[in-house]
Amino acid sequence: MKIKLFLLLTFFLSTNAMASPPPCTKWEFIVRSHEVQAYEKKDGTKVSESKKKDFCKNKFPKVESWQKRFTDGKIAGWPNKTEDFKKWTQLEKETVLKYLSEEPPLYRNISGVTFLRGVKSIYDKNPGAAVKRLNAISLYDEFFTSNKKSQILSHEISHLHVYEHNREEITKLVYLMGWREETETTNLIRLTQSPPLKPNSFHDLSEDLANHFEFYLHNPRELSVKSKEAHNYIQNIMGKDFKLEK
Ligand SMILES: [Zn+2]
Repeated sequence: MKIKLFLLLTFFLSTNAMASPPPCTKWEFIVRSHEVQAYEKKDGTKVSESKKKDFCKNKFPKVESWQKRFTDGKIAGWPNKTEDFKKWTQLEKETVLKYLSEEPPLYRNISGVTFLRGVKSIYDKNPGAAVKRLNAISLYDEFFTSNKKSQILSHEISHLHVYEHNREEITKLVYLMGWREETETTNLIRLTQSPPLKPNSFHDLSEDLANHFEFYLHNPRELSVKSKEAHNYIQNIMGKDFKLEK
């Protein structure tokens, strides 16, 4: 009787141990044990029937390295002194990673950038800000309630990308966007008659540049209508991989 009970207990413990899931991290999800039926790959390789055990899979494999790129609180040197920063929640981080996964490879592989969780921008209804000197992007409460998260991310990364891009090409793009040097002041001003992409495209070259890259990815038709030469030039300099991956 005693022996029987012992055997039963061992059996119970061992089957229970076998069924226990692998310890997944907060960045992973578990894929339960399942049968894979035999199939043929596109290249003709035959895959035979098999049984897969439970395993952990990264939720956002294309942007795994960004998991460590969130900074809680403020960082030294942030230009807008009155802005407050807070701690990231896991859900907020995952929201950013989800949309970051859709960015073109060049944008999602931009190196050294950290994300800050700003509370409110000094500019009304502003969802994000990018500071090249600090290699930082701040996303405010406004970002998390917006239904244009993907556009906002593309826009903020564009601000940083412009500095890394070939100077001559950016200069030519600025010219095609309709900006010219004013003779007396040598300031660059927008001289084209075509309608601006956004209200801030009127007076701010840096915003107009980021708006052009953002529109190229998200509203290419509108960009083509309002700024055809610039659209075609971005297509030319950024190449065929510069597109969203949804
Ligand atoms: Zn901007």
